Amino acid sequence: MLTTPRHANNSGPIMEFTPSYEVNGEDAPVLSIVTPMFNEEDGIERFLKTVRRVMGDLDLSYEIVCVNDGSQDGTFRKLAQAAEKDGRIVVIDLSRNFGKEAALTAGLDAARGQAVVPLDADLQEPPELIGDMVRLWRQGYDVVLAKRSDRSSDTRFKRMSARLFYSLIRRLSETDIQENVGDFRLMDRQVVEALRRLPERTRFMKGLFAWLGYRQTVVEFVRPPRQDGAEKQRFSKLLLLALDGIISFSSMPLRIWTYLGLIVAFLSMTYMVWIVGNTLIFGSDTPGFATLATALLFFNGLLMINMGILGEYVARIFSEVKARPVYLVRTQVRHRQARESDGNAQN
Ligand code: UDP
Ligand code: MG
Repeated sequence: MLTTPRHANNSGPIMEFTPSYEVNGEDAPVLSIVTPMFNEEDGIERFLKTVRRVMGDLDLSYEIVCVNDGSQDGTFRKLAQAAEKDGRIVVIDLSRNFGKEAALTAGLDAARGQAVVPLDADLQEPPELIGDMVRLWRQGYDVVLAKRSDRSSDTRFKRMSARLFYSLIRRLSETDIQENVGDFRLMDRQVVEALRRLPERTRFMKGLFAWLGYRQTVVEFVRPPRQDGAEKQRFSKLLLLALDGIISFSSMPLRIWTYLGLIVAFLSMTYMVWIVGNTLIFGSDTPGFATLATALLFFNGLLMINMGILGEYVARIFSEVKARPVYLVRTQVRHRQARESDGNAQN
């Protein structure tokens, strides 16, 4: 087992290694599927059916950890009903909507499998791929990434913004964040435990996953459009996530000011020398209001951007220092007895 995390003393309850169940215990499944769900009422049946069908073909023990991320519809009720009938379904009910990244974290904390696969509820990530992932995992890979080979099912706008984001973050960050790789991947238990040791509250999962390293390989897939209901992540949320990603995985926005400052200072000096020389030789003519005003506005603009960027970092430092838990669990539904009758609950 792993040791306690580095910041065990000031970290919230979830970051500590106190699983209430035995990860390597007798009844721990081989594979855990972790699914964050926010208002997914309409899609749950189809989701569970598909996953059961796919997993049935694989012939290995598994559990489906469904995290209800504060849904306002009947998601929790439906999940609880499903869990009653099928002991392989575990339901984690969060106290409110914490966002996908936090919900995923909650699910990863609750998962007990030897390997864990995060999977979206909307079936945009084909569970059929899990078979290939397991095969590669058994060949010795710790992480099997599912990479989207194209984004044709997305809107043009989403495609463009995604491309922009990836090119930006890949250029800015030292961590190699792979393009078109989502949360859908298989992780060995060792990797999951490593992930859980990362103490930060800003859970930019893509970045954290990439930071971990380990032996990785890739399987490709084509992403179909969403099955039920609308996208649950609004664009503004994704924008915030992108900002989180850039700021948690790059200090370039902070450092750039040093270079820019040096360049601007150098240019100003040259200009100053030129003005002084000019005045000494030819005497002063017009008061030069235009130059003054332009310079003033320009530098004020620079300063404000600079302060804004500092603010973004400070805000994140503040949220890390507050060390609030990433999520809160209201209830957990885990029917141990039901597991024995797995066969009956199959369909
Ligand atoms: N989701 C969540 N909490 C949220 C938003 C989304 O748990 O606040 C879940 C959602 O139910 C789905 C997954 O995250 O299972 C991905 O959401 P969506 O399909 O809307 O986003 P995408 O990643 O496809 O853009
Ligand atoms: Mg989706």
